[in-house]
Amino acid sequence: MAKNCPDYINDLNDYLDGGVSPELCAEIEAHIGKCQNCRIMVDTLKQTVTLCREGKEEPLPEALETRLRSLLKQRWDQKFGQK
Ligand SMILES: [Zn+2]
Repeated sequence: MAKNCPDYINDLNDYLDGGVSPELCAEIEAHIGKCQNCRIMVDTLKQTVTLCREGKEEPLPEALETRLRSLLKQRWDQKFGQK
């Protein structure tokens, strides 16, 4: 059962928090290895998480998740949406 990138967005958050099972962790890393979009996503999230942790202890703002989601969707559509 192949997942699409948008399916990974929530997983990526948990992944960066260290809150995923070893199996899911391996799956995510395998996906990131071959998917540039999600790699960019992880890098972006990492930076954001780092910024958040250096500042106040706040969860990822919902607005950011929404923004990332639409950014990823956009990239996804650009890459795979045109036939
Ligand atoms: Zn992906």
